[in-house]
Amino acid sequence: MKIGFIGLGNMGAPMARNLAKAGHEVAGFDVAAPIPQGIASAESAANAATGADVVITMLPDGAILRRVAGEVIPAMSPGAILLDCSTVDVESARAVAGQAIAAGTRALDAPVSGGIGGAEAGTLTFMVGGSDDAFADAKPLFEIMGQKAVHCGPSGNGQAAKICNNMILGITMIGTCEAFALADKLGLDRQAMFDVVSTSSGYSWTMNAYCPAPGVGPTSPADNDYKPGFAAELMLKDLRLSQQAAEASDADTPMGQRATELYRSFVEDEDGRGRDFSAMLPRFERRGRG
Ligand code: NAD
Repeated sequence: MKIGFIGLGNMGAPMARNLAKAGHEVAGFDVAAPIPQGIASAESAANAATGADVVITMLPDGAILRRVAGEVIPAMSPGAILLDCSTVDVESARAVAGQAIAAGTRALDAPVSGGIGGAEAGTLTFMVGGSDDAFADAKPLFEIMGQKAVHCGPSGNGQAAKICNNMILGITMIGTCEAFALADKLGLDRQAMFDVVSTSSGYSWTMNAYCPAPGVGPTSPADNDYKPGFAAELMLKDLRLSQQAAEASDADTPMGQRATELYRSFVEDEDGRGRDFSAMLPRFERRGRG
């Protein structure tokens, strides 16, 4: 396929490289990041989109996506697919898809989980919103960049799945960390705590696969001085998106709201920026109730 790839940052660059390695013809554009080897350099986003079967975007947020979509949709061929893999608000995803469809192209929102490691290894999970035919046509690309793609329904539903998943992730990470900090104060050994919880009803991905306690459980960012991994500020971004969506749809999400507030103070008022989101554990372990 002929692919235009816009946004070649931490995630986009390895994803584009994997597509080129698999034999696709990839033209890339980024306002700042260098163009990776094997990718043709386009002069503009519109240029990268011209003549492409699929235009992939991997951008920081919904406002930038809307701007870039305004540039690329008029340049796209009829029936081509605008495949947005960024994490953005549901409203922007639906607005951009509407614009693409009105212009005679097709659109998929396909945010990912798996992080930079997953982008490099081609093992991302895609959560996809959009039409059946666009999903079927994009499937071979999902198979190169990832190991799983779930079709979640119409436009915006990929983003909905992503923020609901990450709201659970933020809440359970906080729960796991505060429980470790309480266990410390009760004199319970962290290894014993892991051995019990990881095989009991308190188990979760954050405990079993990504344990926030250094030296306990499988290797995780906690064993590397909390270098991300998944940075606390990205967790905060996703939690904020969840609360924006909750407000827009009148959903009661008290735990999501509290998790957002905790990650906000961790990132903005404390030392959380640039640290893995599991560094909530050293945060809790230093604190008392006051
Ligand atoms: P990044 O900041 O490294 O990359 C974004 C790229 O977009 C940058 O290179 C930037 O120069 C480029 N860009 C900005 N405006 C542009 C424009 N108008 N035209 C062209 N390029 C433009 O971010 P990232 O870590 O690659 O994340 C990208 C998206 O993936 C985000 O939405 C993020 O939330 C999501 N995501 C990231 C991770 C992760 O672990 N990093 C995991 C899952 C999802």
